[in-house]
Amino acid sequence: RTAQEALERLTVDVPDWPQEGVTFKDITPVLADHHAFSAIITALAAAGRDDHGNVVVDKVVGMEARGFILAAPVALALGIGFVPIRKAGKLPRETHAVSYALEYGEATLEVHRDAIDAGDRVLMVDDVLATGGTVAATQELIEACGGTATGVAVLMELGFLDPRSRTGDLPVSTLLTI
Ligand code: 5GP
Repeated sequence: RTAQEALERLTVDVPDWPQEGVTFKDITPVLADHHAFSAIITALAAAGRDDHGNVVVDKVVGMEARGFILAAPVALALGIGFVPIRKAGKLPRETHAVSYALEYGEATLEVHRDAIDAGDRVLMVDDVLATGGTVAATQELIEACGGTATGVAVLMELGFLDPRSRTGDLPVSTLLTI
């Protein structure tokens, strides 16, 4: 509730950015407010716990770049490890790679092959779920490592872009639906 209020109050809509016709949700003012930041991390971390508060995931992955800012504190809150999902060419060791279509353009994401163990239950964390392409590609990377994606936790879901047509039956926890 507080997390949702903070998001509604502090997120800034930026018209025609990064291109005409797109309204970008700028969440940086949420991060700059300590109470809001703390509330959204607690709310996102709930996606990694069961009804009794037990942690039911082994790893948290964050997608470059804003996903890192959220996924790392979520991992610390849950007492488990953080794994970065990076854009092509950034990770120094052996990777799995998946290419996919973006809301604007195309991209390749990578993960270190040894970052996720076979059988790991993995929670994905990002700021905004738009077309769902980033999450679908990240799920593929988790599965390429032999892990299972338990779900994705995001601050905001842009419902009008129909992301769930891309994410299928993957559980989505969202603090705010636009
Ligand atoms: P998708 O792959 O679901 O189309 O796009 C989601 C990715 O693009 C996320 O990693 C997210 O950070 C970024 N993204 C797309 N639209 C927005 C937006 O309006 N605001 C922010 N902050 N990120 C966005």
